Amino acid sequence: TEKIQLLRKAIVTYPNFPKPGVTFRDIFGIFRDITALRAMKDLIVEHILFLEVDVVVGLDSRGFLVGPLICMELGKPFLPIRKKGKLPGKVVEHAFSLEYGEATFELQTDFMKKGARVLIVDDLLATGGSMRAAVDLVQLTGSKVIECLAIIELTTLKGREKLNVPVHSVVQYG
Ligand code: 5GP
Repeated sequence: TEKIQLLRKAIVTYPNFPKPGVTFRDIFGIFRDITALRAMKDLIVEHILFLEVDVVVGLDSRGFLVGPLICMELGKPFLPIRKKGKLPGKVVEHAFSLEYGEATFELQTDFMKKGARVLIVDDLLATGGSMRAAVDLVQLTGSKVIECLAIIELTTLKGREKLNVPVHSVVQYG
């Protein structure tokens, strides 16, 4: 559609960043172009309007840019998932392995209700390692992940195959 084309034009591609061989898709191009940003919000809202979301959970750090845009439209709260040691209060944690080494994600348990219907958002789905860890973490709290949503999906990396929940992306790159 026209809106998706606007997004494609706004996303800037940087070859060999952050290291040789990697093609980086920069989502901040969308935030520099307010028409594209509105299109992004509209496309997401059209998609999730009927999902009956109770809470939106966003991944550190660009998920924090996308989540609140959606929350405002849904009238539902936003919660962050962060790397270990950044969130105060009672947290649940989940350790997982990345391509290079280990990482631990945390989520504040006091604000998660058992059985809540959770939408997880991030800017980009690549190998799916981060999203998979986020799904596991949310499920540890007894909430239900109804969908994972990424603005960009790098389809050749097959990240969605790592996820045992529905996945939606707005713009795909092969
Ligand atoms: P994955 O865990 O799926 O391999 O990687 C996804 C995570 O890495 C996301 O949190 C995303 O922000 C970051 N990431 C990986 N590649 C890119 C990229 O090309 N552009 C952007 N904006 N983020 C990326």
